[in-house]
Amino acid sequence: MDDIDLELGAEDEHGGFDTQALEAAQQEQQDKDHQQGQQQAPRKKKVVKKWRDEWADTYKWAYVALQEGSPRIFCRVCKEFGRKHRRNPYGNEGSRNMQMSALEEHNNSLLHKEALRLQAASRDKGHGMLERPVYIKALLSRTSESIIEGVARRDPNEAEFIQAVHEVVHTLEPVLTKYAHVLERLLEPECIIIFRVPWMDDKGEIHVNRGFRVNFCQALGPYKGGLRFHPSVNLSIIKFLAFDQTLKHSLTPLNLGGARGGSDFDPKGKSDNEVLRFCQSFMEELYRHIKAHQDVFTGDIGVNSREVGYLFGQYRRLTGHFDVCLLWWASRNIRSIATAATGYGLVYFAKFLLADLNKDLRGLRCVVSGSGKVAMHALEKLINFGAVPVTVSDSKSYLLDDDGFDNIKLALIKEIKFQRKSLREYTKRYSKARFYEDAKPWGEKCDLAFPCATQNEINHSDALALVNAGCQVLIEGSDMPCTTEAAEVIRKAGIFIAPSKAANAGGVAITDLEAMQNSSCIQLSAETIDAQLQDFVRTMYLKCLGVANEYGFPRGAPESLVYGANIASFLRVAQALLEQGCV
Ligand code: NAP
Repeated sequence: MDDIDLELGAEDEHGGFDTQALEAAQQEQQDKDHQQGQQQAPRKKKVVKKWRDEWADTYKWAYVALQEGSPRIFCRVCKEFGRKHRRNPYGNEGSRNMQMSALEEHNNSLLHKEALRLQAASRDKGHGMLERPVYIKALLSRTSESIIEGVARRDPNEAEFIQAVHEVVHTLEPVLTKYAHVLERLLEPECIIIFRVPWMDDKGEIHVNRGFRVNFCQALGPYKGGLRFHPSVNLSIIKFLAFDQTLKHSLTPLNLGGARGGSDFDPKGKSDNEVLRFCQSFMEELYRHIKAHQDVFTGDIGVNSREVGYLFGQYRRLTGHFDVCLLWWASRNIRSIATAATGYGLVYFAKFLLADLNKDLRGLRCVVSGSGKVAMHALEKLINFGAVPVTVSDSKSYLLDDDGFDNIKLALIKEIKFQRKSLREYTKRYSKARFYEDAKPWGEKCDLAFPCATQNEINHSDALALVNAGCQVLIEGSDMPCTTEAAEVIRKAGIFIAPSKAANAGGVAITDLEAMQNSSCIQLSAETIDAQLQDFVRTMYLKCLGVANEYGFPRGAPESLVYGANIASFLRVAQALLEQGCV
């Protein structure tokens, strides 16, 4: 969100819009201040401090909006510009005397005075067209910048975590006045476990990897979040994922906390036995730190049903418990839809968003990245809805089929992935398809983009390519798919964004169903589960829109869902933290 520098230079102090009313009002304020300053200089600081405190809570923000083509600063309470009021801005309640004193109080309030002062100060700042209110950051003792700086100072080497904090905190400006302290608390994970994972390969050689579990916040429920096995895994990545997961869960109506974990172990190229030995060693340490009903694990990059099965087996062996720690034991139909729910949910989310833009998925060209769990299920649903997905990718390459994938082609891609072969294999059967080594799919002509591989998979030049390729909507399957620079390009280009916190939360919906099915032994049909998933995604979509609208970001604005998702999720977890005291 844009904000305004409140520091005034010498010229600013004397500047002003050309309205006579404003100048007169300013002069009056200055005379009064001057007189009061002479009479009660020592008291002034105290009074101002008191006003500032009250102001922060009661009056919230001044804001800038356009009036007659010029950006003007308004007092948020009265929403008027450049003059004293004749009517009580708080309404008509109370006696005439009370109303008069409220009016007087408002006219003399620091907020209103500041609004007048800022109108003058902003004259030469040259703010361009404003599409929405601009909040004034310097009115707060804690600004978004100071909060981000605090995080960066504490953990300067955690690039991904700082990036995630940066992206979220900027969108929380409208609620920072009340919740800045809670936000600072939330940004520190509740518990971090880092441990050594020694394991033996098939030749008898011993290797050592590093294991992580970040329990970010339990305020809303048990720590739940996936495990990632990938060589790039480090503390920064797991912290960012756990922070995002906390907010994602908070956006849902479910009572779940946020956590993530994993290791820099690469399952690729390892035998089943090696993966088994690694998983057993990983759990050998982790089981000491987890408890039934407090920790729930799912998969993520590199952790599929094989890995979850091995981890669960070792956990059960060590503890003698068959409990909810791992989602391995969910019944078959739930298990398969739980894996599918993230990808399916992504496409349902896109469908709701497009409906609001009077569009339909049918016939739209979609660029998809990744060829793992999320990408494959997104592809399946896109094909069902008549969209035309034209790409999939892996960590080194991408595959383009200009005619679009259908169910038969999708089955072939799944088979190729199952056999852990290169996507190039596909071109042996479909010779018109193109395989690009060391490349990403973002330059391919498209209407919609579905990044479903990993964080920061879209960088600045990818984002420019995406804009040039005609992309209109970005549906985030991976968490934080854009670098900060890429996000800026996409924002400026006016591409609609379906944020990952809401769009890829479909898998979370299934948690509830799993719990219900496992406790009641009722078998739910795949149709029932799918209908509930759609309901869940619709609710999430409407919630993001509703909250965005409440804070000045209208339906139909490209970034509304991002603001809505972040504000709504933060408010729920922040409220829980406040209610739980000093936690
Ligand atoms: P997955 O099954 O392991 O698939 C990951 C895909 O991304 C693979 O095709 C992989 O390529 C590719 N990839 C991995 N690292 C990459 C890199 N550095 N650059 C380019 N491509 C890369 O994982 P997944 O479960 O589908 O998860 C995909 C994304 O969705 C992740 O960001 C995850 O956090 C997010 N997500 C997953 C879930 C879930 O329920 N699984 C839920 C919410 C969000 P290779 O085949 O070459 O390895």
